[in-house]
Amino acid sequence: MIRTILHVDMDAFYAAVEQRDHPEYQGKPVVVGSDPKQGKGRGIVATCSYEARKFGVHSAQPISQAWKLCPHGIYVKPDMQKYARVSGHVMRILAEFTDLLEQVSIDEAFLDVTGSRRLFGTGVEIARKIKNRIHQNLNLTASVGVAQNKFIAKMASDLKKPDGLVVVEAGREKEFLEPLAIGRLWGVGQKTEAYLKSLGLVRIGQLADLPPGNSVSRMGRVGEHLLQLARGIDDRPVLPEEGFKSIGHEITFEQDTTDRELLERTLLELTERVAQRLRKNKACARTIAIKFREADFSTSSRRTTMDRPADTVEMIYPEAVKLMKSLLRKDVPVRLIGVHTGNLEMEDGDKQMSLYDRMPRNDRKLAAAMDAIVQRFGGNAITRAALVPSKKPSQNR
Ligand SMILES: [Mg+2]
Repeated sequence: MIRTILHVDMDAFYAAVEQRDHPEYQGKPVVVGSDPKQGKGRGIVATCSYEARKFGVHSAQPISQAWKLCPHGIYVKPDMQKYARVSGHVMRILAEFTDLLEQVSIDEAFLDVTGSRRLFGTGVEIARKIKNRIHQNLNLTASVGVAQNKFIAKMASDLKKPDGLVVVEAGREKEFLEPLAIGRLWGVGQKTEAYLKSLGLVRIGQLADLPPGNSVSRMGRVGEHLLQLARGIDDRPVLPEEGFKSIGHEITFEQDTTDRELLERTLLELTERVAQRLRKNKACARTIAIKFREADFSTSSRRTTMDRPADTVEMIYPEAVKLMKSLLRKDVPVRLIGVHTGNLEMEDGDKQMSLYDRMPRNDRKLAAAMDAIVQRFGGNAITRAALVPSKKPSQNR
């Protein structure tokens, strides 16, 4: 069955909320971010209004540069609590149309409405209803992409901002992508973009048409993934947070942090707890995911599938660190970090032997010993040397 996926993305979210709440800001360049301090400020732009974009201001730009480009702009400090409240309202509207709702950041979500079509109409009709509802209830605009997979829906929502609605019919994905610049491909960072351009690849269509055995596919798994996307192929499901059967832990830091050591130590602590819970539930995980929320509430996650199902820190932590490194952005403070495991294999009578076999022996013994101590004396009784915290993060759950 052909899926119908929507990607809903609020337009210039923080700035739009500020313009809505301050009519005197309307039609003016509004820059939400840190204090520009007359051009001497050191933070970055979180979001800016479309009027500010005309001057070359954009999100993630140093605020000092924004000031240079647009000194007469209205500079506003972010009010994250307010944006979180509005975001909650947006997500509740979206949830009325499907249970398969995956929030990707404070102002962005995927919806799988395949099963909702009978009730609410075609994908386009649902998209229109959502846009109207957001406009009527919140006096804000959203752009929506409608397609048969997440990747195309995401590309589509971005194409006609603000207040856009772009539909890509099933079967026309390749045609839709073909003229777009390679840098727009989801997941292509600056480094990869530079590499692809050095191969003479400028448009997504050129990447899609590479013959088998090309240099991009030789990049390994990442390359293969990019080639698939360039051809419009993406079968990743829309994953609602509760629907994903997983064992995980998350922590919100008392203060947003860029401290690498604190992050790694916290990650180890989280992994330790997750591994203990896996063992307690007699489960092994094949998939591990790291979740990151940055200071501006944008959330990203990355997952990997392990060769062998795992339930010890020794097996999970090295993968977790790799994933964390791929998500960390230099000098961008982290607000929340989480470790999740999925694709669980439950241990049953028949499988016990093979489960034992999957573990390197010493790991298994150490883990069993630690479990015994934890069971007797509680979770804080035993801890690896590197787990001893110096700055204590607050715990989410
Ligand atoms: Mg947005």
